[in-house]
Amino acid sequence: MNSDLQKTAEDIKKASEDADFILVGFGREWYSDETPEITAGDGISREEAVRGYEKIRALIGDKKHYIITLAYDDVIYDVFNGEDEKIVAPCGTKRLLQCKSHLMTPDEVKDTANMVCPVCGEKLAYNNILAEGYMEEGYLDEFEKYKKFLQTTVNKKLLILEFGVDMKYPSVIRFPFDKLCVYNYKSSFYRINDSFPQHVSETYGRGISVKTDSVDFVNNYL
Ligand SMILES: [Zn+2]
Repeated sequence: MNSDLQKTAEDIKKASEDADFILVGFGREWYSDETPEITAGDGISREEAVRGYEKIRALIGDKKHYIITLAYDDVIYDVFNGEDEKIVAPCGTKRLLQCKSHLMTPDEVKDTANMVCPVCGEKLAYNNILAEGYMEEGYLDEFEKYKKFLQTTVNKKLLILEFGVDMKYPSVIRFPFDKLCVYNYKSSFYRINDSFPQHVSETYGRGISVKTDSVDFVNNYL
């Protein structure tokens, strides 16, 4: 065990008890082997992901919280069961299907053998960033709830936990989290990833950088 990481984990636990609100972001370090773009073996295993999400679920307890994730393998919903309204996944989901112009649940598909759209007959794909003409309507309800959550955190003790978010799609989690921390003087922000955990200087010491793999950190220390 690394004593610096152990200390960081203790600090996070204390900060979570102290916080009024907890905001969690998960990035690409959390892509499991069940992610559509991942070659088997290149992602983390489902078991590792589940164990990590369970740790975070326990850490959050009954604090007001919201989760934003770049993962779109849906593993998180197995752990945060019945909490779909507190999770937004802007990169998409396997729980919805789409053609280029219609979005639907799998139940609405009549021709399941050929997976074609019941409206226009075009081929269906999962509703995620890999789909041709990705339909972002799939996550917009949750995104509205996320924005409302953020409004309630203004001038409150907000703990921001960012796990494994690199510089791909920075406008989804990374840059908005920076901005939140800059403007909320009562916030604290742990940025944990193995590639580039630096903070913007304007966070004036409220941002803590931890350069380590976030999945290992959560599973071994939290
Ligand atoms: Zn269609």
